[in-house]
Amino acid sequence: MTKPFRLPDPAPYRGALPDAVDLAIIGGGIIGITTALYAARAGLSVVVLEKGRVAAEQSSRNWGWIRMQGRDFDEIPIMQEAQQLWQDLDTDSNGAMGLRSCGVTYLARDAAKMDLYRDWLEKAKPYGVSSQILDRAQIDQMLGTPKGDWIGGLNTPTDMKAEPDVAVPLMGDLARDAGAQIIEGCAVRGLDMVAGKVAGVVTEAGKIACDQVVLAGGAWSPLFLRQHGISIPQTSVRNTACATSPVSGPEMTCAVDPDFAMRPREDGGFTLAPSTDTDVYIGPDVIRLMRWYLPFVFSGGFKVSLRPPAPKHFPDALFTARRWNDANETPFERMRILSPKPDMKKVAATVKAFNRAWPDTAEATVADAWAGMIDVLPDVVPVVDRVEKLPGLTVATGMCGHGFGIGPAFGRILADMVQGRDVGYDMTRFRLSRFSDGSPMVPGPNV
Ligand SMILES: Cc1cc2nc3c(=O)[nH]c(=O)nc-3n(C[C@H](O)[C@H](O)[C@H](O)COP(=O)(O)OP(=O)(O)OC[C@H]3O[C@@H](n4cnc5c(N)ncnc54)[C@H](O)[C@@H]3O)c2cc1C
Repeated sequence: MTKPFRLPDPAPYRGALPDAVDLAIIGGGIIGITTALYAARAGLSVVVLEKGRVAAEQSSRNWGWIRMQGRDFDEIPIMQEAQQLWQDLDTDSNGAMGLRSCGVTYLARDAAKMDLYRDWLEKAKPYGVSSQILDRAQIDQMLGTPKGDWIGGLNTPTDMKAEPDVAVPLMGDLARDAGAQIIEGCAVRGLDMVAGKVAGVVTEAGKIACDQVVLAGGAWSPLFLRQHGISIPQTSVRNTACATSPVSGPEMTCAVDPDFAMRPREDGGFTLAPSTDTDVYIGPDVIRLMRWYLPFVFSGGFKVSLRPPAPKHFPDALFTARRWNDANETPFERMRILSPKPDMKKVAATVKAFNRAWPDTAEATVADAWAGMIDVLPDVVPVVDRVEKLPGLTVATGMCGHGFGIGPAFGRILADMVQGRDVGYDMTRFRLSRFSDGSPMVPGPNV
């Protein structure tokens, strides 16, 4: 198995496969783990099947922002619940998740960007967000007088951060304490369909009977769905990040400008990233899905670079199998942990931009660098829905680079959804059928 990504070794979650459960969850990221937690607390027998390690893909590699700011308006109420759940979960873990209300600030260099911020704020205000427009003097006051040509910004003081590689495994412990079984190193190869309905999952270690399955497979979900005849226009993009050694100078807050994004870490350093700068590996699926993404690329809100073919065994690599027999090894077992190489040139440029803004940080060294594949959809909101054509399957995927913050609320929603309960929100925006029912794509806010 691939080396774990800053997670405890040996894997804490092992155990024999159960014969039957109420709910099987595919994927041990934040979505799968929190679904397991709330379903187990509701009294369901639950198993999480994770091909690699809990939180080893996106859920431990992200920036750690838990933000309301800039969200799609249909996500805001769900995010409000998520921020409450984060506090509850942190309390349940004795405050060990590194959770802080440190605020999030977007920094603008021009009036056009400020207009986008004002527009978002105007529409978000009715939801009761704490967000506010900042002028330059307020930025100086809030961020410790940085050097930078910003004219203003958008700030949400109640937004939070946590330590992803600590928080999600702790959520795993809470799920296990609630009675969920978590099995690492166990790929799900496919669904066991009987009479047109889900009757179980086929794993590399055998079958488990169940009539409810949640697919929370992150970057791997489209591959899994396609095997069962469901096509979604989800692809993945690479985002590089790094951690600095402890620094003094900047205020302990999250902020982003066109050249860098920053988040204070519990170890005194910062997690930095090259803002919205992402890489797309060319692969058969990216080419096939290109038409969905062209409007997004031309919208100009993101810097997207095309890269050479996706590395071997990546979900969209040329020779990754798109169809398989469940009796044999599948693509999920060939890559236990999706771990793209970070772009070290981007790391250097990001640290330089951070140093320029806070010259006192020039002594900081790069303590760690990594990258993650972010699962994206063309309208930049996820799918959280039951799959009509496969009764018994519910899918939660395409979290579009913001599933860490909202994760616990989607976990709670999914746990209710599989029980046929009212989930408390209108989930139309997150329906699977929006990609096939002729609906126009309505992209989320691009601030
Ligand atoms: C660099 C970076 C920065 C980000 N910053 C933020 C941020 O600041 N705030 C924020 O809210 N979000 C952020 N995100 C996005 C966030 O991390 C993701 O949206 C979230 O973690 C997705 O969680 P998930 O559980 O859906 O997927 P993942 O964490 O990717 O987990 C999916 C899991 O499913 C497993 N799996 C897949 N297929 C199978 C199978 N067949 N059998 C068994 N297991 C399987 C995989 O091994 C994987 O562990 C960022 C992401 C990255 C990469």
